[in-house]
Formats: sequence, structure tokens, C-alpha cells
Amino acid sequence: MTHLNLQAVTRRFGAVHAVDDVDLSVPDGKLVCFLGPSGCGKTTLLRMIAGLETPTEGSIHFAGRDITRLPANRRDFGMVFQSLALFPHMTVAQNVAYPLKLRKVAKARQTRRVAELLELIQLPHMANRPVTQLSGGQRQRVAIARAIASEPQLLLLDEPLSALDAKLREAMQVEIRLLQQRLGITTIMVTHDQREAMTMADEIVVMEKGRIAQVGKPLDIYRDPVSEFVADFIGLGNILPVRYDGAGVVSLPGGRRIAVTPNPGAPLADARQPGAAGDAIRLLIRPEDICVKAATEAPNPNRLPGTVTFIRDVGASLEATIDCVGFTLTAATTPRETPGLALGMPVLAELPPHACKLIAARAA
Ligand code: ATP
Repeated sequence: MTHLNLQAVTRRFGAVHAVDDVDLSVPDGKLVCFLGPSGCGKTTLLRMIAGLETPTEGSIHFAGRDITRLPANRRDFGMVFQSLALFPHMTVAQNVAYPLKLRKVAKARQTRRVAELLELIQLPHMANRPVTQLSGGQRQRVAIARAIASEPQLLLLDEPLSALDAKLREAMQVEIRLLQQRLGITTIMVTHDQREAMTMADEIVVMEKGRIAQVGKPLDIYRDPVSEFVADFIGLGNILPVRYDGAGVVSLPGGRRIAVTPNPGAPLADARQPGAAGDAIRLLIRPEDICVKAATEAPNPNRLPGTVTFIRDVGASLEATIDCVGFTLTAATTPRETPGLALGMPVLAELPPHACKLIAARAA
């Protein structure tokens, strides 16, 4: 069931189209991430859902009701923002109880609910501690407990982890995700970190200049990005300008021709239609799909000769930069797969046809 529906939502600030004609359905019980570079409109979109900003055009429905102009305090949504906005003069328990107090929930019930929430965020022993004496991760958990205290039907998170260091941030991503799944609460989270979105989301909404560039499951977007912008934004990728020669063949920069398997049903099938032959398009191949072979192996058109110019070895995996004639590739491999790989070594970089995606070039 879809609880939240946005139809043709636009928000302009003077001449700036912060959000431009967005249609979106958020499925019940899922965690959806708004992902995109700075200034693409993620926060403005979230603020309109929260009721902190009003659309210039379009409508927002929640549970079948038009909430486009309903004030934030009458939406009953839980919110956590970057700054957290905990009350510094209050204890952990008082912060968590605050929304219940506002709603005039009976004292005994407040106490029960706070105990339940502190158990949930694993801080029952810190109930009486001032929030100023908590670590960043603990403060984060208190902010989430406070946001869900009154059992909101929708939880809105705007870059809630951006103030945390990398390690704590990764731990909190898992914690929030597990909590969200346990409670089954529909959640929308804004982030500009694609790894964070890949880790946490059921669905990712990739935004570009106020518009939705692509919506889908994280791996579907990673595997089948609809444009160069999305391919570039999600994960590491080799994106080469190529020419489609027809019949599953493309010319790489420098002129070498390789086979690609047209991916049927992909959104940009038109880029691979005969009419598009000769058009400049992009070939995407992810680093983990490139097979690094010894230069002595049998040649074939999809095995490109090159030289290793850089190796990033982080123990369990390694990343090799391979200079081919006219372009450079990054391949992900492991010490076991490519023993003895060394700088300056001639190799063959194999691009399996099925792993080569053709996508539309970014608009100039
Ligand atoms: P970030 O990741 O940097 O927070 P974002 O994707 O959340 O960016 P928004 O904050 O939604 O982007 O901003 C989208 C665009 O709208 C930007 O160009 C921004 O400058 C503009 N904008 C946002 N709020 C206002 C405002 N109150 N007045 C004028 N322009 C605004």
C-alpha cells in the first residue's frame, strides 16, 4: 500500500526551481532515501512533506488525505534533522518524553513509553543523564527515540548522521535500519552519501537539479542507471565515451571495437536501436566486472591491452588503474585473483560483453 503520494510537486524560490514537477509514491513500511548532490532539492522536498515548506504547485497526499497545506504540527510526523535539536538543559528521559508531554499524554503512560523507548535504543541506564553528557552516537539515538515517541506514521530524517565520524556513522546506519525494520515505520531519509543510501534504503530516489533522475532499489540503480549522471553518482564506475556501431558493437576512444550485449528492456533501449548507430553514447562498466588477465593470455576483441599505472591495495581487495590506449580503466580485484600484480605490468583488461551497459550521455 502506498501511504504518501506526491503529484507534480514544485517549489520555486524566485527564479530557482528547488523542486521541479516531482511525482513520487512512497510504499508503506519502507525506508526511502533522497539522494543527490548539494543543491539538488532533497531538503526542500523533505520539508514540503514535513509541512515546513509549502509547494508552489502540486499536491501531497498522506493516507488518502490531501495534506499539501496542513501545518507541520498537525501532520504527526517524526522528524530528525542534522542539528538534532535536543534540549540541552533536559535529561535523556525528559527529551524523549517531550512530545508526549506536548500531547498531554497521562504521566504514567509517559513513563512507560519512555522506558520502552530507552530500552529500544539501548540507553535505559542513561535516563537521568543530561544530553550534553552523551556521545554523538548516543545523542543520535535519543533524537530518534524522541522522534518516534508519539508513534508517528512517517519518520523524516534529514542528514541525521552527517555530524558523526565515519565509523560511528556506519554503525548508526545499521542501527537505524534495524530499528526501522523492527518498527515497520515508513521512513524518508535525505543523504548525499551514496554508500549510506545503498546500505539503508529499500528504495533510492536520485535527484538532479530539482527533478527525479531515477527511482529504484539500490542494486537496480547501481546495475542499470538510466543516465550518465546516475551512473556517475552511484558507486565507482568506468564511463567511456563510445560510438555505437550497430549489431552489439561499440567503438572505444582510440578506435578499438568491442562487443556489448544489448540489455533488453533497459530504460534507454533507444540508445541501442539501429537509428542510434553512430550516435555518441556512454559505456559503463563497474570496476568489479573487469577481469584483469596476464598479458600472455589469448587475445580477443574484449581483452584490452594496457599497463598497470596505480594500485590501491587495502588488504582484502585491491583496485588497479590500467592505462589502455586512449582511456584509463579502474578494475577491482583481490590479491588471490591477481597474484603478483605490479606497477608497470602489461595486462589484458577484459570487459565481458554482458557487463557493458550503454547509457545516454549527460546533457551538455
Ligand atoms: P544540500 O545537500 O546542500 O542540503 P539539497 O539537495 O538539500 O542540498 P535544497 O536545500 O533543497 O538542496 O536546495 C535546493 C535549491 O533551492 C538550492 O539552489 C538552494 O539554494 C535553493 N533554496 C533552498 N531553500 C531556499 C530558500 N529558503 N530561499 C531561496 N533559495 C532556497
